Amino acid sequence: MKRKPYVAGNWKMWGTRRQARDYFPRLLERLAPVAERTVDVGICAPFTALDVCVEAARGSGVRVLAQNMHQAAEGAHTGEISAAMLTELGVDGVVLGHSERRRDHCENDRALREKLPVALAAGLEPILCVGETEEEREQGETERRLRQQVWEALEDVPDDRLGDIVIAYEPVWAIGTGRTATPDQAQEAIAFIRALVADRSREAAAKIRILYGGSVKPDNAADILAQPDVDGALVGGASLDPVGFATIVAAAEER
Ligand code: PEP
Repeated sequence: MKRKPYVAGNWKMWGTRRQARDYFPRLLERLAPVAERTVDVGICAPFTALDVCVEAARGSGVRVLAQNMHQAAEGAHTGEISAAMLTELGVDGVVLGHSERRRDHCENDRALREKLPVALAAGLEPILCVGETEEEREQGETERRLRQQVWEALEDVPDDRLGDIVIAYEPVWAIGTGRTATPDQAQEAIAFIRALVADRSREAAAKIRILYGGSVKPDNAADILAQPDVDGALVGGASLDPVGFATIVAAAEER
């Protein structure tokens, strides 16, 4: 099955409403027209800029995603945001389990297991982030860690919805560090994740898009995106510059 590449920019805690307003026209003028575009493009923005992004992206085919979501429909969860709050704004998807949230906000596999079905039921496309720490890689624990993260997070997703999820393989040691996994390392880990999905459903494994994330830049994107199992990229720091981000999208178009 041919999978459409997907390049998503994760703004993290960047992007006031004014910055979001300035950013979109600069990005859109550099992307191929939506009817000719061979790559899906997304922007993962802070909650406060989501409605601005939705408005600015209207008709462009660029998806707008949140960077987190609570699993409960509503209730006593101060500071949290529900799926319905996102869909009300016209948001298309949500990043779940980013390593910065796992590290700083105690996001764990158990919560992700609840969040994924909630996001899917609400019509939000989830990008599930998984990845090993440097210590885990050095100790030969990469596969064990990925297996645990993928299996636990996907446990309550029915087989026929697995293919609707996007997974981002993001080695923690490569995020925001300027150190990128080699193309071979990215391919190996992503092929392993695809095999984990195949243990549940071969059909879903053929359909599911698995991205690489970790210091992807305009000058290293093409080599990583050329790997057969790498279906795109989740781009952090380099997505803040719309020119550089569009260059990464173009590298995915040419893959
Ligand atoms: C990310 O935020 O998901 C990410 C991969 O960041 P960076 O590209 O800056 O390493």
